[in-house]
Amino acid sequence: MDFKDYVANVPNFPEPGILFRDISPLMYNGKVYAAATNKIAEYAQQRGTEMIVGPEARGFIVGCPVAYKLGVGFAPARKKGKLPRETVSVTYDLEYGQGELFMQKDAVRPGQKVLVVDDLMATGGTLAATIQLVEQLGGIVVGTAFLIELTELHGRDKISDYDMFTLMQY
Ligand code: IMP
Repeated sequence: MDFKDYVANVPNFPEPGILFRDISPLMYNGKVYAAATNKIAEYAQQRGTEMIVGPEARGFIVGCPVAYKLGVGFAPARKKGKLPRETVSVTYDLEYGQGELFMQKDAVRPGQKVLVVDDLMATGGTLAATIQLVEQLGGIVVGTAFLIELTELHGRDKISDYDMFTLMQY
C-alpha cells in the first residue's frame, strides 16, 4: 500500500503559493487509517511509550487510535482557552505571528515516557513547542511520529536530539 495515494495535494491552500497536504482521504478509508495507525503503534512500542501527546487538532486524529492500540493514555496540547484546569504553556513562532499551546499540569507524570505525534511536520515549530510542554511537566520524550514530513523545511534540524518516525516524506 502506498500511503501517498491517500493524501490529497491541494494547491494554493490556505493561501496562494502553499501546497497543502490533506490527510482526509487516509482517514476516510478504514483500512488505510488502521494500517497507518499500526505503523506508528509499532514504532511507539519499540520506543517504550507510556503516554501519547498530540497538538490540536490533527494530532488527536493520529495520536488517539495509537494510544488505544497500545493501551496507554493520550494527552492533548491545546490552543488558548480550551483547558479548564491549571495549565503550563509555551509560545512559539508561526509563519505569521505567534502561536501558544497549553497542557494541563497533571497530563504527564514526571519521568513518564512520552511519544509526541502529529499529522504533519513542516518547520517543526509545533513539534518543538509540544516537546517543551512535555518537558516542563517532567516527561521524557522518547520519540516523535508523523504521517508526513515536509523535508524541504528542515524541521528535523530543530529537534535533532529526538528520534523521529515519519510514514511519508515530501
Ligand atoms: P510546523 O509547526 O511548521 O511544523 O507546522 C506543522 C503544523 O501545521 C501541524 O500541526 C500541521 O497540522 C499543520 N500543517 C502545516 N502544513 C500543513 C499541510 O500541508 N497539511 C496539513 N497540515 C499542515
